[in-house]
Amino acid sequence: MSARVAIIGGGWAGMAAAVTLAGAGRAVTVFESARVLGGRGRRVELGGRRVDNGQHILLGAYAQTLSLLRTVHGERPERELFDRRRLHLEEPGVFRLKTPPLPAPWHLAAALLTARGLSRRERLATIAFVRRLKRGGYRCAAQLTVGALLTDQPEAAVQLLWAPLCLAALNTPIDTASAQMFLNVLRAAFAAHARDSEMLIPRVDLTALFPAPAAAYVEARAGEIRSGSVVTRIVVDADGVNVVSAAREERFAAALVAVGPHQLEHLLAPAASDAISAALASVAAFAYEPIYTTYLHYPRPLGSPLPMLKLHGDPGQWLFDRGQLGDAPGLAAVVISTDMPAARVEHGVLTQAIDAQLRRLIPDLPPPDWAQTIAERRATYACVAGLAHPAPGALQPRLYLAGDYTDSAFPATLEAATRSGVAAARQLLALRA
Ligand SMILES: Cc1cc2nc3c(=O)[nH]c(=O)nc-3n(C[C@H](O)[C@H](O)[C@H](O)COP(=O)(O)OP(=O)(O)OC[C@H]3O[C@@H](n4cnc5c(N)ncnc54)[C@H](O)[C@@H]3O)c2cc1C
Repeated sequence: MSARVAIIGGGWAGMAAAVTLAGAGRAVTVFESARVLGGRGRRVELGGRRVDNGQHILLGAYAQTLSLLRTVHGERPERELFDRRRLHLEEPGVFRLKTPPLPAPWHLAAALLTARGLSRRERLATIAFVRRLKRGGYRCAAQLTVGALLTDQPEAAVQLLWAPLCLAALNTPIDTASAQMFLNVLRAAFAAHARDSEMLIPRVDLTALFPAPAAAYVEARAGEIRSGSVVTRIVVDADGVNVVSAAREERFAAALVAVGPHQLEHLLAPAASDAISAALASVAAFAYEPIYTTYLHYPRPLGSPLPMLKLHGDPGQWLFDRGQLGDAPGLAAVVISTDMPAARVEHGVLTQAIDAQLRRLIPDLPPPDWAQTIAERRATYACVAGLAHPAPGALQPRLYLAGDYTDSAFPATLEAATRSGVAAARQLLALRA
């Protein structure tokens, strides 16, 4: 019987699993329903322009993702892939948090001590809060929300710092977001090394960043990538797995399912095992949050002081000057996380509001000559307090699960996806499935 492993889903989780298995000598076949690899982190073509389905940012703390990138890119220098810089959050004239070149934790203490937009009392209260988190080992009750965690924090620190960070990291409003998951992110970014809090903004499109070189790595090791191939059914028995796609049924030694959480129920039969029933029950309880990215092209460079700027949230929350990041000069990406009322409008209306917002920031901007909004309605699961997740790994003999929603350390992110893919693949290798 074939020793091949079928991987269903060519997003970052599925491709992380594929690289791990191929690197260990296992032949894999990746089934991806879309034409382009990358799932929720992929390149799209819009009116002749290549952009991403949404602007992404990585952190220096993304250890698993960065390790996989080194594997698939080999000698290629990181500076070709990313703009990496020390944490610097700036809303011009309103707020500034900039870490100086100091080792952790002094970089954060110094950044908070010198933060602009907060009074001395507010800065000291914020430093005291961070020290309390550290003393408590970044642990709290599972049911606690970020809003409840922040009850002692001054309003300005919540509005200017913590709430925007929570939206950016968890894509969930502070009133419902999981405080423990937020603390996990803060610990990953700030507890160990100053490099962990660095921001990495891709200089290449997301498919070129990982899924495409991962596919080349897998193909060079007897692997096969089938883009545009929808799996409709998986049938597991004691000796192997039958995978049904496009009226073809093929036999594999094992299958690793790395589809999005809402796509799981189309593939798995609840009665097959208790673990499958439990996984399906937990994802059935998920809610989802959107992320909007509006791209606007101006016929001259934006001239933004930084490649990434914090905005007031009316309606855009973050501005990326893509012209400073390897794209055409004048290309802006503006991000809105979560279900904001201001974004629930027709795309043309949203684009106009964002253009007006950018014009307030950069008054002499000419009108944009191109603009498009991408609304990813199910960008991430809502990372609410007390939410149960299935774990990555075996659901039953020969059937494995991966995906951003299975990681308990990180919220729905590229790092959660790659961590889950690697964890599931390692389990498969250890069990010799
Ligand atoms: C707009 C936006 C902005 C984001 N910003 C950030 C950010 O700044 N930083 C960050 O770290 N994360 C960010 N994320 C989150 C990150 O993109 C996701 O957490 C990650 O990509 C999820 O990867 P995944 O492989 O688990 O799932 P997915 O990407 O959903 O992959 C699942 C794949 O399975 C395929 N599939 C489904 N069903 C089938 C089937 N039956 N047969 C074959 N294939 C199938 C799908 O087409 C898809 O490609 C953002 C997400 C979005 C949408």
